[in-house]
Amino acid sequence: MDLDDLEFDRYLEGAKHCDPSKVREVLAKAREARGLSREEVSALFSISDPELLAELFRSAREVKEGIYGRRLVLFAPLYISNLCANECSYCAFRARNAGVARRTLTREEIATEVKAIVEQGHKRILLVAGEAHGLAGFDSVLEAIDTIYATKSGPGEIRRVNVNIAPLSVEEFKRLKERRIGTYQLFQETYHRPTYERVHIAGRKADYAWRVGCMDRALEAGIQDVGIGVLFGLFDWRYEILALLRHIEELEHRFGIGPHTISVPRLEPASGSELSRQPPAAVSDLDFRKLVAILRLAVPYTGIILSTRETERIRQETFALGVSQISAGSRTNPGGYTSGERAAEAQFSLGDHRSLDEVVRDIVKLGFIPSFCTGCYRLGRTGHDFMDLAKPGDIRAHCDPNAFSTFQEYLLDYASEDTRLEGERAIASSLAGLDEVGRKRAQRLVEAVRGGARDVFV
Ligand code: SAM
Ligand code: SF4
Repeated sequence: MDLDDLEFDRYLEGAKHCDPSKVREVLAKAREARGLSREEVSALFSISDPELLAELFRSAREVKEGIYGRRLVLFAPLYISNLCANECSYCAFRARNAGVARRTLTREEIATEVKAIVEQGHKRILLVAGEAHGLAGFDSVLEAIDTIYATKSGPGEIRRVNVNIAPLSVEEFKRLKERRIGTYQLFQETYHRPTYERVHIAGRKADYAWRVGCMDRALEAGIQDVGIGVLFGLFDWRYEILALLRHIEELEHRFGIGPHTISVPRLEPASGSELSRQPPAAVSDLDFRKLVAILRLAVPYTGIILSTRETERIRQETFALGVSQISAGSRTNPGGYTSGERAAEAQFSLGDHRSLDEVVRDIVKLGFIPSFCTGCYRLGRTGHDFMDLAKPGDIRAHCDPNAFSTFQEYLLDYASEDTRLEGERAIASSLAGLDEVGRKRAQRLVEAVRGGARDVFV
């Protein structure tokens, strides 16, 4: 699935000259939160005038707030191995990079890492691994998921494991589904085939078709929540957005389900990778904010994930434009939560090194409610069911109360005193802003947590 060049040229030709009245027409439609066609999206690429840019950002904020309220869901990545048989020229884990110390965590080490993550206050883990076929291979991923769910520490545990691992066969996806995973994530990196072929030099990942067809296999195997993404910086971001939207259309057409999330990593410096230091199509900070806002308007009901690759400043600027999930307190080296950040074992350099507590305090000050909710998939609200709820905007009736109750849990069990005080104030004022039904629902859950209950959700 790649975008044919003629189609791309046509869209970009239309986007060369900014027509303010066309842009305003598209923004007006976007504010109805029913999504945009690729042609409409391409009209937004041309915006550079500060006034129109402000209108674009305002529209994205409005749509985000209408659907997601002020919630931001938090998670931590867990790297279980940096062994890899591929040669992706942007990644430190690539097979021939002798500069990286290789490490695969044992079951005991995984449990120790999970404890450290749980003790920060996290409830969601994103399991990440290189693509290695040695030793137990795929079975070791399944075993790692079991270990994560089985590990407890004090009042805490991980309630949702999302997975970002190399493409699988339908049979393997079926086994993954049995492990009760949340979302299966995979980034296409670039949809532009010649660029894809240039940067993926050896190993199974060099096969474009195997990667781009991965979500079809996942959905065919019954995994209903899938997350897609692009590694921005490899090719023209506008092409990537159009191709990503086409990928979404195809999934919706064939399976009736679009992706649950879109990730928007930007290329970061990685040890042993020249390419990562000089991205061939670097995306400026302004274009990055634009692309997040455009995605929010184009596919309003799909979550957008921002990782700690980005700096504190960029993260603060993009939250309001459409981001719904963020990582915090992250390490990208296997064992990093126990042994600390080690550049020689990490995948790329982080932009945000703050602890979860600092990030939580910061987002509360910015007016957001941190959420550790894992309710939807545990109640079977995935795929079609999630979309049925999400599309008319009903998801807020569930997600708002669950955000408050899980945030309250965090404040009582893990927060520093300063964060707890800020958080309690934020809960009180945000509850006051809800309609009566929502407020009563949320208050009931919050009171239950204050009374000692844990893991309460609707
Ligand atoms: N190995 C599997 C794969 O490649 O799909 C899954 C895990 S891989 C560690 C997760 C993602 O990290 C990749 O899909 C890629 O987008 C991202 N990544 C790799 N190198 C990066 C870099 N230098 N900067 C930012 N993200 C990077
Ligand atoms: Fe391996 Fe994934 Fe890194 Fe490529 S991006 S080298 S497949 S870990």
